[in-house]
Amino acid sequence: MIKKVRQHINQNEPLLFENSSPGKRGYQLPPLDVPSVDPAAALGASNTRSEIEGFPEVSEVEAIRHFTRLSTHNYAIDLGLYPLGSCTMKYNPRVNEQVARIEGLAWAHPYQPESLSQGILEVMGTLEQILAEITGMDAVTLQPAAGAHGEFTGILLIRALLQSQGNARKKLLIPDSAHGTNPATATMAGYKVENIKSNERGMVDVESLARAVDEDVAALMITNPNTLGVFEENITRIAEILHSKGALVYMDGANMNALVGVARPGDFGVDVMHLNLHKTFSTPHGGGGPGSGPVAVKKHLIPFLPKPRLERVGERWTWNYDRPQSVGRVRAFYGNIGMHVRALAYIMAHGGDGLRNATLDAVLNANYIRALIEPYYDLPHKAPTMHECVFSDERQTKRGVHTGDIAKRLIDYGFHPYTVSFPLIVHGAMMIEPTETESKAELDLFVDALISIAAEIDTDAELVLKAPHHTRTSRVDEVTAARKPIVRWKGVTEPRP
Ligand SMILES: *Cc1c(COP(=O)(O)O)cnc(C)c1O
Repeated sequence: MIKKVRQHINQNEPLLFENSSPGKRGYQLPPLDVPSVDPAAALGASNTRSEIEGFPEVSEVEAIRHFTRLSTHNYAIDLGLYPLGSCTMKYNPRVNEQVARIEGLAWAHPYQPESLSQGILEVMGTLEQILAEITGMDAVTLQPAAGAHGEFTGILLIRALLQSQGNARKKLLIPDSAHGTNPATATMAGYKVENIKSNERGMVDVESLARAVDEDVAALMITNPNTLGVFEENITRIAEILHSKGALVYMDGANMNALVGVARPGDFGVDVMHLNLHKTFSTPHGGGGPGSGPVAVKKHLIPFLPKPRLERVGERWTWNYDRPQSVGRVRAFYGNIGMHVRALAYIMAHGGDGLRNATLDAVLNANYIRALIEPYYDLPHKAPTMHECVFSDERQTKRGVHTGDIAKRLIDYGFHPYTVSFPLIVHGAMMIEPTETESKAELDLFVDALISIAAEIDTDAELVLKAPHHTRTSRVDEVTAARKPIVRWKGVTEPRP
């Protein structure tokens, strides 16, 4: 007779502390065959530590199974489509990982002398050159650790240039469709933010922009294509307006997956921009990083780039610290080098034609989804779709179902949700970015899921409102979870004071 059924796959995993049993160990050592000494006496008290109180005691197999089970609780790009708009969750090709594990690259140490670091410096120097070519810019720094960090670095460069001309100015102009990191960056760099309204086509309104640009404006921070997945078709004119008043154009390059190999920001008036290697160039993404946010600039900003600068002198690469106008370091050492290696592997495995094809496929995939979903969901902005499309929940709201509910129901169909409620200018936004790495078969499954959910909402809205039904945990109270988190430690449940 079966007394107790233990499901290994779907169970809610206890904390490791709850699995602890005194005296269990992950290893066994043979008996000591030398005289024992007191570690504190031998090494000094400051170099030793006592037992950690309450540390879990489990066997090796228990530790392995605990973490392996936990690893199955998450959705991942290796499981299926991950259509988070604005995030470019593309598959990370395994060749990147293989190259990053080459011993000389994986073990390179920042304190190694330059003479023993020429290989990794060559990787970084080559990547800088290639990124400059892709963006149409004159120089690149690889130091910033992520997109938002790149924005901050880029705005510091603008501030330094304007300061060197005698006036750092006061304001940054930011369209209302911008990512939240843009105004945050502006504020951290000491600028006041002025919002620019989008027009009904979802683009920057050139007339309002022209009125807003005066001698107090340091720069416009613009995302292109913007967060509606719409290319700012007046970008050249926009850049002229800024430049005519001595202001600069910062481009948030998070959406470069729609442009690589097709259009270059340096050719349409951009002075400085960042790239997200963890988006466009396929380095791993999510789970807290590490990411990489290189910044590309035109000639007039080169003197201000973070130091040290990587330079080629004859046959050798060398770090130049003698950069009197530099904004200084923005990151310890030289950036997240593992990401540089992966991005270069990705770029070289694709080649120029391959990168361009990836862009065309990313745009094709987004348009395929748009065409098939449009009969079922509201599409507020009808301008041509680039690499992502933004629907709204307007029709479903009439039955009391909102974007967040549809996203939860998608989980039951085996997909990661799309981006919910962003960009803010679309009420009830459903932002979908498939990327080029998805096959037609996978896109069809996703489209079928969304169409099926639209039908469910018409016949049984409750079903969708209570989703997800097939996960370990169903709906959580997100407000209480954020305001009064319950943190478990050693099996004790304690609401935070
Ligand atoms: C992702 C993103 C950012 C921020 O990049 P991180 O690497 O997450 O810091 C900024 N702007 C846009 C439009 C983005 O999509």
